[in-house]
Amino acid sequence: MKCPTCGSSSTHVIDTIREPSGGIRRRRECKNCNRRFSTVERVVESTPLVVKRGGRREAFNRDKILEGIRISCAKRPVSAEAIDRLVDQVEAQVVALNKSEVAARDIGDMVLNGLRKLDEVAYIRYAIVYLNLKDLESVKKEIEKLLAEK
Ligand SMILES: [Zn+2]
Repeated sequence: MKCPTCGSSSTHVIDTIREPSGGIRRRRECKNCNRRFSTVERVVESTPLVVKRGGRREAFNRDKILEGIRISCAKRPVSAEAIDRLVDQVEAQVVALNKSEVAARDIGDMVLNGLRKLDEVAYIRYAIVYLNLKDLESVKKEIEKLLAEK
């Protein structure tokens, strides 16, 4: 890594911080002019294609997952950090599958597993959309399943 001030390539890392977004920020110092600067590295991982209900495929979209979780957690006592962590977790699980395609339903299940531990109301909200619970009876069954696990 070259120093932005003097162009010397004798710089060294003095600090490494993992950012919530998954990027890595490194604080560096130039041994030649002592200038300190930071670099941010974004981890580029290959995520699989997501297969939707009906067979349509689309690129894995972290923001979409984040948005869905945020909506489910609206006005619930779940911190933005906890939501970020859950999205990180789901993304890591999807990458760990090491497949070229993954069913949207499988991603929904990963989110549900995480949400169940975070907040039960958010879990039920998410389940209604992603498990396609169409009536009160199926919502009730889902809630009973949740209560039975306690
Ligand atoms: Zn320098």
